Amino acid sequence: MTVKRNALITGSTSGIGLGIARGFAAIGHNVMLNGFADREEVERLKADIASAHGVKVGYSDADVSKPEAIAAAVEQTKAELGEIDILVNNAGIQFVSPIEEFPIEKWDAIIAINLSSAFHFTRLVLPGMKERGFGRIINVASAHALVASPFKSAYVSAKHGIAGLTKTVALEAAEHGVTVNAICPGYVLTPLVQKQIPDQAHARGISEEAVVRDVLLAAQPTKRFITVEEVASLAAFLADEQTASITGAIIPIDGGWTAH
Ligand code: NAD
Repeated sequence: MTVKRNALITGSTSGIGLGIARGFAAIGHNVMLNGFADREEVERLKADIASAHGVKVGYSDADVSKPEAIAAAVEQTKAELGEIDILVNNAGIQFVSPIEEFPIEKWDAIIAINLSSAFHFTRLVLPGMKERGFGRIINVASAHALVASPFKSAYVSAKHGIAGLTKTVALEAAEHGVTVNAICPGYVLTPLVQKQIPDQAHARGISEEAVVRDVLLAAQPTKRFITVEEVASLAAFLADEQTASITGAIIPIDGGWTAH
């Protein structure tokens, strides 16, 4: 039986993060949501998850590009749910452009949100996990932590960075009952991917249909998008007591993309 834990999932008002939060709640974990959404939407999500699964559901509006907001989110989670047993660093954004035209502020934002936020959450949450002898840190990286694609210099750099951070913290935490792993999805049809289809079409001078067929799914031998539920069940597996020996792993869930 799964032990009930407290989980903080960044970027969980949408897409993969929301799927992971729902998956955790379904197995009895209390969840702290985070991300941008309007108040009504947040209240609806909280009530929906809490009533479906009988768990505590909190929400932090922290902008994870800001270290002081991250510190406040950690404190709020402890106050509302209790000590943090599971941390999922999932918040992320994308921007697609040739490097010569890549806006400096987009580079800075992607590095802050997709990479530095994981450093800040980890450094604040890890001491308590070590002290209690249990912790699970799950970093939502990407197939782009393992391979590159053109026009995604900041994203690919941040995701490769997350892989390095995962392995480093796994080594530092290994003797303390804390595992640290990275999940590397291929394409999942979330708002993050939907938004980049027109940008990719523009950058490559092709139609949106051609982007889906020849750019996104061309990389995935299964020829279909990965589902949010598939990623959520991998996160739930990594959060389990039974996976104590899986640490420092960079785990693809990419329909075979990085096999070739
Ligand atoms: P999404 O756009 O659906 O969700 C992103 C979430 O992050 C939202 O809740 C958003 O509000 C939040 N967020 C964005 N900026 C934030 C900030 N500054 N502070 C706090 N929250 C912020 O995207 P998604 O596809 O679910 O992506 C989630 C993660 O999965 C990202 O790290 C992404 O890189 C990774 N990923 C996605 C795919 C994919 O195909 N969708 C593939 C591989 C990896």
